Amino acid sequence: MSSHSSSRNSDNHRHPPAEPLIRVQDLSHVYHLEGEDVHALTGVTLDIPTGRMTAIVGRSGSGKTTLLNLIAGLDTPVRGSIHVEGRDLRALTEDERLALRRDDLGFIFQSFGLLPLLTAAENVGVPLRMRHLSRMEREARVTEALDWVGLTRRARHRPYELSGGEQQRVAIARALAARPRIVLADEPTGQLDSQTGRRILDLLRRMVEERGVTLVVVSHDPMVMAEADIVHELRDGRLVETRQKAG
Ligand code: ADP
Ligand code: MG
Repeated sequence: MSSHSSSRNSDNHRHPPAEPLIRVQDLSHVYHLEGEDVHALTGVTLDIPTGRMTAIVGRSGSGKTTLLNLIAGLDTPVRGSIHVEGRDLRALTEDERLALRRDDLGFIFQSFGLLPLLTAAENVGVPLRMRHLSRMEREARVTEALDWVGLTRRARHRPYELSGGEQQRVAIARALAARPRIVLADEPTGQLDSQTGRRILDLLRRMVEERGVTLVVVSHDPMVMAEADIVHELRDGRLVETRQKAG
């Protein structure tokens, strides 16, 4: 697969390889719950390369969602660091972290996360509201994103008028409408039957190949593990294995 992985050349020593898009170093996180410490992550170090599909796998409770939330800057780790596009998240102000999420990150959740009273098109437009775009530009982006996921004819439907797979496609269009460089997906196939899950996974793959998105997908779905270019496995909050698809 992916012939374009790390394009090395003889000038390598003069032009060191680009920084990974996301760099996680010695990351630990502890939740305090009713006087008890829950060690959700312990000493996790990993790199996420640009333009690839990286999966974080492991059973329920292994720390996957915690890792994704920390990468998104939604929580602060008790120890270790995360660099996104070379920027240390700890060094950013809350406003800067917000801007990073708004401009560079898209999110896809297991439960789709659509607003029930809004149409598909309105849902896709939500993340664009926070940006300084003309109304015409916003509408063009919504139309393009819905078209890209194949839902042009469902634009005026509300979530309850859509199947689970269609709702997840709306969520993917919403994640893409702001044209982020990075998309974080938490169990995107978790609520879907395997055939529908397969179609969503194909769409996520196309997102990486056609739109150049760097995708980080958290999952315990074997189909996701088989599809990803790189798989990091967590067990009890520790990174136990990294597998790379043979190129
Ligand atoms: P996964 O996504 O792999 O299922 P999580 O990152 O959600 O795992 O959880 C890792 C561990 O941290 C689990 O033991 C979970 O119970 C615990 N945990 C997660 N969120 C919280 C929280 N907000 N408060 C306390 N414990 C939590
Ligand atoms: Mg989870």
